[in-house]
Amino acid sequence: MSGKYIIAHDVGTRGSKAVLTDPEGRIFGSAFENHEVHYPQSHWAEQEPDDWWRAVTRSTQRLLTEGQVAPGDVLCMIFSTQMLGIIPMDAEGAPLRPGIIWLDGRAGPQAKQLMRKLIHPRIFAAVVGAEATGKDVLPKLMWLQQNEPDLVARTHKFLDVNGYLVYRSTGRMVADWTAASVTGLFNLKSKKWDDFLMRFLGAPGDKFPELLPSSEQVGGLTTSAARDFGLLEGTPIICGAGDAPGAAVGSGAVGEGEGHIYLGTSGWVGVVTEKSPTGRYGVATIQSADPTKCFLIAETETAGICLQWIADQFYRREQSDPAVENVFALMDAVVQEVEAGAGRIIFTPWMYGERSPVSDVYVRSTFLNLSCDHQREHMLRAVYEGVAYNLRWILEIMRHKFGWQQDVIRVIGGGARGDPWLQIIADVTGKRVEKVANPRQAGAVGAALVAAIGLGVYPDFQALKKVIQVTRTFDPRAENAEIYDELFDAYKKVYRALKGIHRQLNQERLGD
Ligand code: ADP
Repeated sequence: MSGKYIIAHDVGTRGSKAVLTDPEGRIFGSAFENHEVHYPQSHWAEQEPDDWWRAVTRSTQRLLTEGQVAPGDVLCMIFSTQMLGIIPMDAEGAPLRPGIIWLDGRAGPQAKQLMRKLIHPRIFAAVVGAEATGKDVLPKLMWLQQNEPDLVARTHKFLDVNGYLVYRSTGRMVADWTAASVTGLFNLKSKKWDDFLMRFLGAPGDKFPELLPSSEQVGGLTTSAARDFGLLEGTPIICGAGDAPGAAVGSGAVGEGEGHIYLGTSGWVGVVTEKSPTGRYGVATIQSADPTKCFLIAETETAGICLQWIADQFYRREQSDPAVENVFALMDAVVQEVEAGAGRIIFTPWMYGERSPVSDVYVRSTFLNLSCDHQREHMLRAVYEGVAYNLRWILEIMRHKFGWQQDVIRVIGGGARGDPWLQIIADVTGKRVEKVANPRQAGAVGAALVAAIGLGVYPDFQALKKVIQVTRTFDPRAENAEIYDELFDAYKKVYRALKGIHRQLNQERLGD
């Protein structure tokens, strides 16, 4: 094979990172470019497709220049992007409006209409995965049909963020299976758009693009795209995946039933499986980057952001001390000095409401059982433990409701940098926790490996197991099991006990 490198783009909400790897996923360089989110009205969140393009092309140019990489040394390129976006494109290939992104919750009323149409949220969950919210694609499509019907009439195809970037690169309008599977209109068994659901829901089936698996080659860079990137015309573009299914590959937990935890600002638990159980309890079943598997995903709204919050509120002075290089490292050291159970304080991490293990927009956080004997260090440890209780609850649901049986789980994302947190997660969940090399880059590395499969470097996704290195493991410590079992039991009761009060406090403010 001529060439040496893969360029993988991790296109997030506030910016886009281009990573240069080899086909084994080893990282040689990365470059980040911001893109703005616009909030034209409350609950709305939009982005300019041109801004994504500028970010991916500029970051690529920087990668090539800084790494002194010859364009001919680039084997292929792939995008792994934020999911749930919708970009209506005209027949000439121009976006008809700014992209409506995942963060946009304007379609709340349409989500309710949709659920009424499907009689009951449970039925919706049984058909398409999880209950619909105003952030989902189908309600957003309904919003467009109701509010911008002329624009819908002029739409040739609806693309998502990845689809837009692939189109602009190759001139071909497609949707990768993972992106299609979060629309609620993709049949996970036949891997086709679901004509029955399209007709039933009044969705314009002809406006949805051709479908391709994540590892398939879509085409080569067009002349003008090649010029924008600084790459050779014809450089292969691999179809790509959504960020979560891409990160699942980067975790290395790609075998049947294997799972990972993503600990970023928010978080999720993801499991890949050949089965396609229907979603409940906030667990959605979508397509995995591996065409032979589904991906169960339970998203939690707040994970690392709870640590960020306590760093900003309780460790402000330390943060402004030039001698403190990294406040998280300082907090990690403090947490290890506090006993397991944090003096029996329970912190519940529902700072912005929750999606899973409970689906509740009104619930908020609590420090329970505080006394004058406690210090801020106890409260700090309680925050680390509170996120871990929430993860244990999700894992319990995965086990009891979805038959997930594993005793081992991988952890990726920025939060995986702190070893004390990983030990707490092992102790609280009772699972062996495995940390991988470069956990924060798991998304980009995963995408690069999907591309390597597309190039034929590996026969299938199972072959990637050997490629991702585990750098450290954390086994649950028996001496902490009793206190965590007891506090976890109380943790679940806190939710139930306060549910009504949270609704009373927040319903009016947040709307029904
Ligand atoms: P995002 O999801 O926004 O991309 P990252 O993957 O970068 O976020 O993760 C950011 C989170 O990582 C922070 O909110 C913080 O809680 C956590 N974090 C960073 N360093 C450490 C550390 N040393 N120990 C524990 N958590 C950390």
